[in-house]
Amino acid sequence: MSETASVVIVGGGVMGASTAFHLAERGCRDVTLLERQGVASGPTGHSSALLRQHYSIEIYARLAYESLQFYHAFRERVGGDCGLIRCGLAVAIGPDDLEPARETVRMQQAIGIQTEFVPLETLRDLFGEIRTDDLAAGVFEAMSGYAEPVTTTMSFVRRARELGVRVLEDRPALEILVAGGRVTGVRTPAGILHTDTVVLAAGPWTLDLVRPLELDFPLRASRQQVVLFGRPEPRRPQPVLVDMVQACYFRPEVDHQVFVGVRNPAGVVADADPDRYDPRVNGDAVERAAILATHRFPHMERAEWRGGYAAIYDLTPDLHFVIDRPRTVEGLLLATGFSGHGFKHAPMIGRLLAEWVLDGQPKSADLTPFSLDRFRTGTVLRGRYARWPY
Ligand SMILES: Cc1cc2nc3c(=O)[nH]c(=O)nc-3n(C[C@H](O)[C@H](O)[C@H](O)COP(=O)(O)OP(=O)(O)OC[C@H]3O[C@@H](n4cnc5c(N)ncnc54)[C@H](O)[C@@H]3O)c2cc1C
Repeated sequence: MSETASVVIVGGGVMGASTAFHLAERGCRDVTLLERQGVASGPTGHSSALLRQHYSIEIYARLAYESLQFYHAFRERVGGDCGLIRCGLAVAIGPDDLEPARETVRMQQAIGIQTEFVPLETLRDLFGEIRTDDLAAGVFEAMSGYAEPVTTTMSFVRRARELGVRVLEDRPALEILVAGGRVTGVRTPAGILHTDTVVLAAGPWTLDLVRPLELDFPLRASRQQVVLFGRPEPRRPQPVLVDMVQACYFRPEVDHQVFVGVRNPAGVVADADPDRYDPRVNGDAVERAAILATHRFPHMERAEWRGGYAAIYDLTPDLHFVIDRPRTVEGLLLATGFSGHGFKHAPMIGRLLAEWVLDGQPKSADLTPFSLDRFRTGTVLRGRYARWPY
């Protein structure tokens, strides 16, 4: 069987789905999306989907801000739901981070982001019983919150399909075909799909497809754990808390539950196999999450452990995205390395990738900081915080 498409997207995570939607919305409908399993079956389906705008690096703050506006207008723009819960999001700031946080908030307000510096008293009003003696202040984003990642991705895909995009599940891309330095097609188990444009949004599996093209870059998979607790007694709905002192986050969940996103105390360990990692949460992660939760919210000492899971971040060594068109393979666009914060940016990244395909360049933002060249030149985006890369 031999077929053709103007554009082939490899990967049905939120990035591939958003790109399919944006291409179709702009009238490019001869698009085929290949997903090796099911839509949102990869890391996207396990995302905590926090929609935070607090980034000390301007490009991320802008992408998060514009994407958040898209999430707020999701139903009108896409036609389906994204499960947005606009509960607000607070960032707990320690004394060492006070000045960078002030600069960050100033930069964000200049962009138009609704964010403010708040005293500890406001954090106590927002959260009730919260320990603040190791904090200096808070930052509060009233418009932020979290979304539902599977629903979001499905909604993008549903609308893209309605507009004419072919979405083929259980259809892996086995090889990207290149002749004379140009993309000519994609080999799948059903035959060759001829195309001159491939958007590769295959998350931690990206290197499997680019290595044979003699294109290699440092991308690793890291196993990350999320732990679920039931609050000891029903409490009023709370905002998300990003705890910069303890390097973790607390995300409310239905039925008076809370997800705790726990970082590995050994730092970034990027040695997981995305096809063979242990998806269960470990006892030591549960213990660590309980300590973090009880430290910040003393009533959580009586919380009930309800479960959790492990999932994969796709990480570059500098922890920044890769969004680029490699010079050696014309017609190939890469979008990967979104680590633990791609979901919130997906609307804008899909739009930018569609611009790159249709207009020859991304128009709505300068994506140079995410180029592959940086691994050669050593030019790395630097944030304002000492212990946090963004
Ligand atoms: C535990 C966890 C918590 C997170 N929390 C947040 C958060 O709070 N906020 C936030 O913004 N982000 C968060 N993230 C990050 C965010 O979820 C990811 O950055 C984002 O979902 C990445 O989407 P993607 O489409 O690039 O990749 P993926 O979800 O990895 O999708 C890639 C897809 O490609 C498919 N694929 C791979 N190889 C092939 C092939 N050869 N042929 C066809 N298909 C292929 C895979 O099956 C997969 O479905 C979190 C991630 C995790 C794991």
